[in-house]
Amino acid sequence: MRTIGLIGGMSWESSAEYYRLVNQGVRDRLGPTASASCLLWSFNFAEIEALQHKGDWASLTARMTEAAQKLEAAGADFLVICTNTMHRTAPAIEAAVRIPVLHIADPTAERIKAAGFRSVGLLGTAFTMEQDFYKGRLTDRHGLNVIIPDAADRAAVHRVIYEELVAGQVLAPSRETYRAIIRRMVEQGAEAIILGCTEIMLLIGADDSPVPVFDTTALHAHAAIERALAD
Ligand code: GLU
Repeated sequence: MRTIGLIGGMSWESSAEYYRLVNQGVRDRLGPTASASCLLWSFNFAEIEALQHKGDWASLTARMTEAAQKLEAAGADFLVICTNTMHRTAPAIEAAVRIPVLHIADPTAERIKAAGFRSVGLLGTAFTMEQDFYKGRLTDRHGLNVIIPDAADRAAVHRVIYEELVAGQVLAPSRETYRAIIRRMVEQGAEAIILGCTEIMLLIGADDSPVPVFDTTALHAHAAIERALAD
């Protein structure tokens, strides 16, 4: 079994889910006492989100590449960045280590295409919804048409992530807000919805959307299990 290097703590609410999913997945495949070989680097998210909101991507990139190098030195065979947003630093990480990075957008897009969808609504942080590092990969590499919420809805989605979900708060009014935003993206042509922030699965599931939802946390963890157990 290959050793998974998880770069997490962004937030730990979702890293805990990654840890559970990779271990559960290995158990399902190899038997009841089997578990994943993995390493977890877990940041203090308060420091990360302060740098994000300052726009200090140089410092964030330095921290991420340092974590990646430590996981590589500790024996990780490949890396899993447990957040969509911080994939903005993925190219720098790829350049800084010899082991591969399993990009979160790729297994997500592959599953969406396999299901026959082309137009997807994207929910995530403002960084993920507005900047090109994520949407660009979905469109250029995978040929998907990406729909994002309007400015007011993006602000609402972002606020719920940073003020509630990363703090472990899952609130019914916010679920209603997300449901309404999903419906508006469906009206604009979204055939499916990407839960493009690794905490959104705490709030939203299949029952909250009139079209299928694709949970990046589960899809990314599943892809990590496949990579860890591949021949
Ligand atoms: N976990 C989130 C994501 O998938 C947001 C936290 C972060 O900014 O890393 O984007």
